[in-house]
Amino acid sequence: MRPFEYVRVGSTSSLADLTAGGSNAKFIAGGTNLLDLMKEDVERPDRVIDISGLPMNKIQRVPGGLSLGALATNTETANHPVVRENYPLLTQAILAGASGQLRNMATNGGNLLQRTRCNYFYDTAMPCNKRDPGTGCAARDGLNKIHAIFGWSESCVATYPGDMANALHALDAIVRLRKPDGDQRQVPIAEFHRLPGDAPQQDTNLEQGELIVAIELPVAAAAFAGRSYYLKVRDRASYAFAMIAVAVALEIDGDTIRRARVVLGGVAHKPWRAAETEALLVGQRLNAELFQRASSAAFLNARPLEHNAYKIELGQRAITRALMRAAHVA
Ligand code: SF4
Repeated sequence: MRPFEYVRVGSTSSLADLTAGGSNAKFIAGGTNLLDLMKEDVERPDRVIDISGLPMNKIQRVPGGLSLGALATNTETANHPVVRENYPLLTQAILAGASGQLRNMATNGGNLLQRTRCNYFYDTAMPCNKRDPGTGCAARDGLNKIHAIFGWSESCVATYPGDMANALHALDAIVRLRKPDGDQRQVPIAEFHRLPGDAPQQDTNLEQGELIVAIELPVAAAAFAGRSYYLKVRDRASYAFAMIAVAVALEIDGDTIRRARVVLGGVAHKPWRAAETEALLVGQRLNAELFQRASSAAFLNARPLEHNAYKIELGQRAITRALMRAAHVA
């Protein structure tokens, strides 16, 4: 592990100086991903800024919805009564991730920023454009069973590993950010993570020194509460990352689908919205045949790699099952 400077801040007043251009500073809160990456020499910050003392851990109603503080833990968020009642998809997704111990430490902001679990990213003996830009991608022609089937580039075929963001995407969440100068801006969760392109070292559209302050869930997403489901398919029942995950949210009028959200995890460098599936669902009546047809549409433009074509059939089946569970169709 390389030497680094540790700074604990109690207010945001010094953040502009601590994260100024040229600095390779990293924020730390729960530390459940960053510390592992530093020990493995994958992350090499010269300064670690401990933000765990900042007042950003509240979960509270705000005009337009519910605000989840960036420093609220995943456990607190999943178990919050308003989240459970109005946004149960988020509770399911959080509880599908990691382990109880990790969720007790991991924060909402950190969850969004967790890095890929591509094996080659962690192996510093192998080329990896995400870890060391310009060195190549060992996974492109290597063992790429867990890698992307959508949106990948020749520079990187990694997937985003989180569960929480898939549900947030389906719920149209907004990420509230604080710039180093104190100004704030909002980014729809759909625009928070990015595809790899030719700069896979950048997982998100965060700018230098920006801090996640909160994640906001809109009131309108509570209409999905009675008809949502999170399905995660993985190699073992817990403490494993998704081969495929599906976040489904439906708004029903009688037995007709008024709004549909289908977001896939484990298939791309960011949560992947199955827009073709949603388009086939809206305006239709709930039934199993429709769900199968709509599930197939999600993969029309898939580009599997040598070892991960299985994700297409697995994904179709996972979407169908998640839709049936969400719609309460036997
Ligand atoms: Fe690195 Fe991305 Fe290639 Fe994995 S897929 S080796 S993270 S560049």
